[in-house]
Amino acid sequence: MPRYRYVCETCAKELEVFQKISDEPLSTCPSCGGKLRKAITSVGVVFKGSGFYSTDSKAGSKKTESTKD
Ligand SMILES: [Zn+2]
Repeated sequence: MPRYRYVCETCAKELEVFQKISDEPLSTCPSCGGKLRKAITSVGVVFKGSGFYSTDSKAGSKKTESTKD
């Protein structure tokens, strides 16, 4: 059963209730009768960080020519 979180807009009271998906969402605060707002709990935030470094190693070929006289 999914868990829903509500926040009262009047008294800022937070409450969590277990409801079926087919159940109607709560709309009134049980303690003050104010308006409830559904607080969405963000689950599954995935940061796709591509720590990909392409080390382009262009090794310059150094030619040391020693000229003999
Ligand atoms: Zn309230």
